[in-house]
Amino acid sequence: MQGMEQILQKGAAMSHNDLVRLLALPKDESKVLFDYSRKVKEEAVGSRVYFRGLIEFSNICAKDCLYCGIRRSNIHTARYNLTDEEILQAARYAWEQNYASIVLQAGELFSEAFSKRIEGLLRKIHQQTQGNLRVTLSLGEQSEDTYQRWFDAGAHRYLLRIETSNPELYHRIHPSDALHSYAIRLKALESLRKVGYQTGTGVMIGLPFQTLEDLANDLIFMRDFGIDMVGMGPYLEHEHTPLYDERGRLWPMMDRFDMALKMIALLRISMPKINIAAATALQAIDKMGREKAIRIGANVIMPNITPGSYRNSYKLYDNKPCTDENAEDCTNCLQARVGMTGNSIGFGEWGDSGYYRERNLI
Ligand code: SAH
Ligand code: SF4
Repeated sequence: MQGMEQILQKGAAMSHNDLVRLLALPKDESKVLFDYSRKVKEEAVGSRVYFRGLIEFSNICAKDCLYCGIRRSNIHTARYNLTDEEILQAARYAWEQNYASIVLQAGELFSEAFSKRIEGLLRKIHQQTQGNLRVTLSLGEQSEDTYQRWFDAGAHRYLLRIETSNPELYHRIHPSDALHSYAIRLKALESLRKVGYQTGTGVMIGLPFQTLEDLANDLIFMRDFGIDMVGMGPYLEHEHTPLYDERGRLWPMMDRFDMALKMIALLRISMPKINIAAATALQAIDKMGREKAIRIGANVIMPNITPGSYRNSYKLYDNKPCTDENAEDCTNCLQARVGMTGNSIGFGEWGDSGYYRERNLI
């Protein structure tokens, strides 16, 4: 592409047109983009990769997203809910392994009992780790009041993917009811920021009906919102979901993978100091998927520390990797794999988003 360097040098000022052109780059021309994003990453966040121990503590969900394997209507999934003790044990494991940070993720539930349970868990986790463990929540859309209660109980980061910044596409991949509204999703993200969380979002890449223009808009959405952290990865079909019927429209798996890498590279160039996670879904397509993402821009990895016997039931998509391993296997293999990328793990470091630190002057 003519003038590619000049376009990349625009950084945060890359236009919608620029982004579409770069997303459309054929594979053999992507190297210039990836070399550039690697350089930006090194300069802005260095070569440290932070671990977030992922605890998928329940697959019980009140929602029915058309793409997700644990959606309410999927009768083929056995439902589970870890006990508080199991969750606390997993959190302790992360702390003992010097991860410094965990993510509590689950299906979405909306009840006082649920809010209270999370509040209690947060307090206990902080007690047992002397406040040394940073906790990220990924529990969907909740009221501002609930977000505030969880923040006060010690959660400082929250991940809520916008899934797609195109409201029309959003409604296509969700049931048409009040529980699945783009406007509410957006409002929830705004509440999270207002409460003071390090606010994370992300999108699925390669959804049926999604275009390069949509993906360019997603990058602009994240930039203009001023998001602190991002986790985005390829869409992967699940056979027991309604969106599976549209699989004939999908880009080939490897194209979705390559597109996800380009999205990560372009986001790193647009927002150099944010935290970007190498999504597990990348590994479902390519065994070295997360490591490839780290090389070109990602700086966070989320080892799955959910007790092994439950992992098989937290299947958002088909062929989820690592479901039959125990937590320790994952830690050891990841440490070696990250080392191979020329990066090192920030054991014992919280790894807060540099962008968040700057906007809050901490
Ligand atoms: N219930 C919470 C957290 C669990 S789902 C929530 O929805 O926010 C976490 C993420 O998994 C979702 O945001 C979605 O982007 C991703 N996901 C779900 N189904 C997927 C699929 N089939 N392929 C790829 N990612 C998927
Ligand atoms: Fe539930 Fe999240 Fe899956 Fe939607 S994506 S069905 S909210 S777990």
